Amino acid sequence: MLRDTIRALAETKIAPFAAAVDEESRFPQEALDALVASDLHAVHVPEEYGGAGADALATVIVIEEVARACASSSLIPAVNKLGSLPVILSGSEELKRKYLGPLAKGDAMFSYALSEPDAGSDAAGMKTKAVRDGDFWVLNGVKRWITNAGVSEYYTVMAVTDPAKRSKGISAFVVEKSDEGVSFGAPEKKLGIKGSPTREVYLDNVRIPADRMIGEEGTGFATAMKTLDHTRVTIAAQAIGIAQGALDYAKGYVQERKQFGKPIADFQGIQFMLADMAMKLEAARQLTYSAAAKSQRVDGDLTFFGAAAKCFASDVAMEVTTDAVQLLGGYGYTRDYPVERMMRDAKITQIYEGTNQVQRIVMARNLP
Ligand SMILES: Cc1cc2nc3c(=O)[nH]c(=O)nc-3n(C[C@H](O)[C@H](O)[C@H](O)COP(=O)(O)OP(=O)(O)OC[C@H]3O[C@@H](n4cnc5c(N)ncnc54)[C@H](O)[C@@H]3O)c2cc1C
Repeated sequence: MLRDTIRALAETKIAPFAAAVDEESRFPQEALDALVASDLHAVHVPEEYGGAGADALATVIVIEEVARACASSSLIPAVNKLGSLPVILSGSEELKRKYLGPLAKGDAMFSYALSEPDAGSDAAGMKTKAVRDGDFWVLNGVKRWITNAGVSEYYTVMAVTDPAKRSKGISAFVVEKSDEGVSFGAPEKKLGIKGSPTREVYLDNVRIPADRMIGEEGTGFATAMKTLDHTRVTIAAQAIGIAQGALDYAKGYVQERKQFGKPIADFQGIQFMLADMAMKLEAARQLTYSAAAKSQRVDGDLTFFGAAAKCFASDVAMEVTTDAVQLLGGYGYTRDYPVERMMRDAKITQIYEGTNQVQRIVMARNLP
C-alpha cells in the first residue's frame, strides 16, 4: 500500500517536473510540497515526536519510489533522515522535542554537515572548531558539499572540541540557519542531482547555547559514523530507485523502436541486456531491504551491510543507467529522454556518504 501510494504521488506530482528541475538546476519545490502534503517528507521521525514513525524498510521504499521519478527530490526524505538521525540516536529529550517536531510537520528540513574542503574520506581530519564560552559554544569553520544547504533550517554540525584527541575530540551540535554567523556559498555546478542544492556552510563565530550539543562532548564522530551505518541504506534505496526508473523507461522504449523491420526488443542481444539489468537490480534491492531490516533491529553486522548495500546498489545503478542509455541508442544520449539524466544522477551514489572505495575499507574491517 505504501509503495502504491508513493508511486502514484511520484508519477503525478514529482515526475512531471524532474526534467525541468534538472535543466534549470532548481530546487524541486513541487516535490517538497507534495511530500509534505502527504506526510512523506520525513517518514522516519518517531510518532512520539509528531512523525509518521515509519521503520527503516518503509523509509527505504519511500526514497526508492521518489528516486525512480526524480533523484534530486529523493534527497528530501533521505537528507531529512541523515540530518536528524544524530539527534534521534544521541540527542537529549529536549533536543528531540525542539527539532523533530518542526521537521515532522514539514516546517523545517535538516541537513548533515560533516565534510570539509580538506576533510572528505578522512572526515576526522576536520578543522571546524567549537570553543566553550560559559554556557555557550562558539563555532568557526567551513563545511563543504552540504546537501540542501540554504533550504534546510537545521544542521547537524560536527566540530573539533579537543584537537589532541582526533576523532574522540569531535562533538556534534545542532546549528540553525538563523543563528548569527551562519552563511552559505554559491550552489555547486554539478554533473547530476542538479535540483538538490549543494553548498558550503560558513560558520563565523556562531555562538550557540551549550544544550545544542548532541550527546556528550567527544562523541560527535562516533554519532556521525553510527548515523551513516543507517543512512547508507537510504543511499542504496536511492540508487535502486534511479536504476528502476531507467530500466522501466528502456523496457518500454525497446518495444516501440523498430529497426530491421521489427521492434528491437525482438533481438536476443537486447533481451540479454535487459535480463542482466533486471537481475542485478533485483540483487541490489534484496541486499538493500536486508540491510534495512538490520538497520531497524540495529543488528551487530549493520556496519558491513550498510556499506555493502550502498556500494553494491550504487555500482549496479551506474551499470543499469549506462545500459539504459545504450538501449536507446543516439536518443538515449540526449536530454529529450530521461535516461541520460538518470545516468548522471546515478553517479553521485558511488561518491557521497563515503565513496565506494571507503565502503570497501569499511566492509573489509567488518567482515561478517
Ligand atoms: C553532491 C554531493 C553532496 C554531498 N552531500 C554531503 C552532505 O550533505 N554532507 C556531508 O557532510 N558531505 C556531503 N558530501 C561529501 C561527500 O561525502 C564527499 O565528497 C566524499 O566523502 C568524498 O570526499 P572528497 O570529495 O573529499 O574525496 P577524497 O576523500 O579527496 O577522495 C578522492 C578519491 O580518493 C579516494 N580515496 C580517499 N581515501 C582513500 C583510501 N584510504 N583508499 C582508497 N581510496 C581512497 C576516494 O575514494 C576518491 O576516489 C557530498 C558530496 C557531493 C559531491
